[in-house]
This record gives sequence, C-alpha cells and structure tokens, in this order.
Amino acid sequence: MARQGINQIREKIEYLAIGSELLTSSYPETNSLFLSERLESLGLKIKYKAVVGDRLEDIISALRVALNRSRLIFISGGLGPTADDRTREAVSRVVKQPLVFCPLILNKIKQRFAARGRKMTPSNRKQAYVIRGAEILENTNGTAPGQWLETKTHILALLPGPPGEFSPMVQKLIIEKLQPYQNKYVLKTVIKTSGAGESWVEDRIRSIYCLLPPELELTILASPGEVQIRLTLPLKDINDPARKIFYKIKDKILKLLGEKVFSTDGQALEEVIGTEFSHLGGRTLACAESCSGGLLADRITAVPGSSDYFLAGLVTYSNKAKSQFLGVPDRLIREKGAVSREVAQAMAVGVRKRTGADFALSITGIAGPGGGQAKKPVGLVYTGLACPKGVDVTENHFQGSRRQIKFQATQKALDMLRLKLKKFHKE
Ligand code: ATP
Ligand code: MG
Repeated sequence: MARQGINQIREKIEYLAIGSELLTSSYPETNSLFLSERLESLGLKIKYKAVVGDRLEDIISALRVALNRSRLIFISGGLGPTADDRTREAVSRVVKQPLVFCPLILNKIKQRFAARGRKMTPSNRKQAYVIRGAEILENTNGTAPGQWLETKTHILALLPGPPGEFSPMVQKLIIEKLQPYQNKYVLKTVIKTSGAGESWVEDRIRSIYCLLPPELELTILASPGEVQIRLTLPLKDINDPARKIFYKIKDKILKLLGEKVFSTDGQALEEVIGTEFSHLGGRTLACAESCSGGLLADRITAVPGSSDYFLAGLVTYSNKAKSQFLGVPDRLIREKGAVSREVAQAMAVGVRKRTGADFALSITGIAGPGGGQAKKPVGLVYTGLACPKGVDVTENHFQGSRRQIKFQATQKALDMLRLKLKKFHKE
C-alpha cells in the first residue's frame, strides 16, 4: 500500500456492529470498546461507528454509507449459521464479489463439532462461504471464521459478534495485519482531576485555548466525581517541532489546575493512593462506610498490592452497628443524626482506633432517592479522615442517582486521603 493509502486508511476507520439485539436495551454493544482500545494502542482511532439490525437491506445500506466515507471497515456479527446472519451476503453484494464455497472451512467446522462429540447441523454449511478474494481469519473460539478483504479502495474485516470470539481475532489482527498502519507519532495524555466541576476546569484553562495549534485536540470529559482533560496531537514524524508545543500546553494546564490533578498517566484515584502508600512504606489504612455500602473498600481493594496497606473496611449501615463496631456514642447519633459531621468524625476516629490503622476514612450520607428532608436532602454526604495529626470532615452536596452519589462519596473520601498523603510525604 502506498504511503498515501496508509494515511488515508488511518484517518478513515469505521466500525459497524450487526445484530438486532444490539439495538435493544438488553444487549449493550461492547465489541467496539474493545476494538477502540486495541486500535488506540496503535495510535489509531475509529472515526465512525454504527449499529444496524439483522435485515439484509439495512446492512447493505449501512455498508454503502461506510464504503463512501471510510477506508478500513470493521464489521462485527452476523456470521452465524442461522437465517438472520446475513453479513456475508450483504458484503458480497456491495463489493460485487460472489460468495465462494470453501471446503477447508467446512472441514474445520465438522472437526470442531466432532471434537465435542456432536454432528454438524446442515445450517453450518453457510459459514463455509467466503467472499471471493477474502483471506480467512481462523476462529479458534467458535465456528464462524472471520474474513479480511482488501479491494483496490478498501479493507473490510468481517468478524464474529460474540465477544469471546471477536476479541481474540482483533488481537491477532493488531499483531498480524494492522502494524503497517500504526501511527507511531501521536502524543496523548489524560489529565484527571477531582474536586472540581467541568465548568470550573474549563474556566481555569480557558486562557490556553488561543495557544492551541489546530491539530491539537483538547476534550473535556466530565463524569460524577471526576473531570478529565484529554490532549491528543498527531505528529508528522519524530522530529516534528509540534512536540514541544504539546508539552508546553500540558505543563500550563497542570499549573493552572494545581492540586486538583490526581493523575496524568491513566491511573484511577485508588491506584494513585496505592502508589502513595507504597512510597510511605508500612503506613496503613482502614475505612468505615454507611451509605456507600462497601464501595470504598471495593475500590481500595481493586488495586493489586492493597493488602500491604489496607487493614479493614466496615460497612456500618445501621445506627446500632455504628456504636457496636466503631464506638460511636448512641447519644451522638440521637442528638446529631447518623448523617452528621459529628458522626462522620466519630466513625473515622472509631475505625482508626479499633483497627490500629494510621489513616482512616469514613462516609455517612443520604444516597436517595428516598430518605431526604429539607435540612438533610438527598446527596448530603459527610466524609471523614482521621490520621495521626487529627481528623477532618467535609460536608458535600452531591447530585445524581443513588449509584452516582455513592461513587462521588468514595471519590471525595479518596481525594481527601490523596491530598493528606501528599502533605504527609512532604513533612
Ligand atoms: P457471529 O458473528 O458469530 O454470527 P452472531 O451474529 O451469530 O455472531 P449473535 O447470535 O447475534 O452472534 O450474538 C451472540 C452473542 O454475542 C449475543 O449475546 C450478542 O449479544 C453478543 N454480541 C454480538 N455482537 C456484539 C457486539 N457488537 N457487542 C457485544 N456483544 C455482542
Ligand atoms: Mg447476530
């Protein structure tokens, strides 16, 4: 492929998922996520992505659109043996190449059935048809082989829909077929922040917008409890002077956002905490949770090696559990309420004392959707942090669903810990 061709292909990648079930709420389309992630490892990205049902005319029409606007097209699904699997036929029609029978594939399918002590059904014969000119991609995890078709103008990859078959086949393509299209010269960074809203972040970094070269893509992505700034810059070659601008802009952003930034290398907050603990050597952590129901402990223990510092996590959901396991005085709960600054403080101090940890986090709040009152509305969450030097509590007003409020509570608690560990480090 000429250099020009390679560049065109890199910039015009499309993904088409085929399957009527993928248009319903019951079956989320996930293959494209895997594909995107693998393509990103080569510095490539999908430009268009579409989902289409099993009707032949619809698949043909989606393929026509794809051929018009893209050069490399990944097609997932519809390669099965049943009547609703029509990808082969649709592709054959749009590229105007007949389907040819391949006895080799049929033998493989027969062998696969035999190995499982079963007889092949006649409908599987359909899977032995290949578009003329296409290369067969072996499927070691299922019956339908994939197909790789290079025409004068396009590359089409037909891949099986079941994720357990799709993913290994993509992985193989990345190694065997897609290396020449690798974009080695893409600079990328994800700056993750917490404790700030999307508009605050945007306001803060606005002054650099006029410095951005047109090829530098800056996107701000907000989710509950976290705002990310993504910077991507394709370079012409390794010596492209634009490289300097990229790092200059990244530095400027980091300065403007200060300690709100918790990672620039893709790490999640709990991973950053893990790294901090590994630097502190021997310090320990515990937590006591109410409304987050164990999510905080789950996030902390999602990090490999967390057993080096994490001692215990208690889900003290009822008032009784708060006094029984953490020593929060009954009177305090009666007078101030279980969702209060005072109880959050007593929970953090209590779990620290009872576990002997150096640092202890606590969460108590109202995750909703019921249970809110005018004085204590849904989303009111107190997060506490007890450490050798005392105890801090923050009052937060989160918004969103029950799940989102629970997540934001854990994010806030982890962020308090992150900032404390940073200071602790310096002292
Ligand atoms: P094949 O390409 O082997 O023909 P198929 O179209 O026969 O696949 P289906 O029977 O439609 O496969 O789907 C098998 C399973 O794979 C289903 O659970 C389906 O939801 C899942 N699946 C298919 N395509 C996707 C996709 N793009 N993302 C996530 N899951 C998918
Ligand atoms: Mg299907």
